[in-house]
Amino acid sequence: MVHRAATIPHLAPEGRTTLTPTHRAFIVPPDRPTIITIDGPAGTGKSSVSRELASRIGLDFLDTGAMYRAAAAIVIDYGIDQTDDEAIVAKVASADLHFDWTADPPTMLAWDTPIDHRIRDADVTAIVSPLAGIGRLREHMVRKQRIIANQHPRLVSEGRDQGSIVFPDADVKFYLDADARVRAGRRADQLRADGRPADEAALLADILERDRSDSTRTDGPLVCPEGAVVIDTSHLTREQVVQRLEDEVRVRIAL
Ligand code: C5P
Repeated sequence: MVHRAATIPHLAPEGRTTLTPTHRAFIVPPDRPTIITIDGPAGTGKSSVSRELASRIGLDFLDTGAMYRAAAAIVIDYGIDQTDDEAIVAKVASADLHFDWTADPPTMLAWDTPIDHRIRDADVTAIVSPLAGIGRLREHMVRKQRIIANQHPRLVSEGRDQGSIVFPDADVKFYLDADARVRAGRRADQLRADGRPADEAALLADILERDRSDSTRTDGPLVCPEGAVVIDTSHLTREQVVQRLEDEVRVRIAL
C-alpha cells in the first residue's frame, strides 16, 4: 500500500533532522532522484522489506536476484553447458531480461515472456549462486541495472552488490544480516506456509553454502558496502525492519 500523506520530520535545534521513530510513512519528494540500496545474505527478509519500503516511500523496487535467477532458469531450460561461460552470457543476453513495470510487483520477462513462475524453483536456486560468479554475466547484469536506474531514478534496489558495485553513490545504503539459524528457520516457515516439507538442517546447510559462494567470488562478492547502515534482523519483526529502514531514509534525505 502506498501512503501518500507526507509527514514533516522532527528537526533538531540546529536544523538537522534527527531520527524520530514514527509509524506515519513519508514520501520521498516526487522531483528528487533517489537510489536506496539494500544488500545482504539470503533469508534476512530483504526482498519483502525492500518491496514494502519502496511502496511506502513512493519509489520503484528492483529485485536484482530475480535477474540472476532468470539467467539460471534460462541456462537450465535451454540446456546450456553450465561450464561454458561464453554460451551462458550469449544466451542470457539474447533474452533481453527486463521487467514489466506496469505489473505490481513488476514481472520478470525473458524474450518478452514472463519467467517469474520458474525462478524460485529448487533447481534454479541450486545453481544461481555459482552462475552469479561468472564475471561477464555480472558485467551484463550491472549494465542492465544501471540502465534500469536511469529509467527509474527513484529506486530501492535489492541484491548482493548494489551498494558496493552497482550504485556506490546511492543516497542511502543498507546491509541486512541475521543469524544463519534464524534465516533457515524463516525459510522453513515459508515452505510450511506453502504446504511444502521443510528440513531445517538441510536449509541451514544450503544457506551457509550460498553465503560462502556469494561472499568468496572474485566479481561482485557479497560485502557490507562502505557507509551502509547495518541492521541485524534476527530478532526484529518485518514491520520493525521496515519502520527502521523508513526512519533511516527519512533522516538521511534532506527534505
Ligand atoms: O536475492 P536472491 O536470493 O533471489 O538471489 C539469488 C542469487 O542471485 C543469490 O544467491 C546470489 O548468488 C545472486 N545475486 C547476486 N547479485 C545480486 C543479486 C543476487 O549475485 N545483486
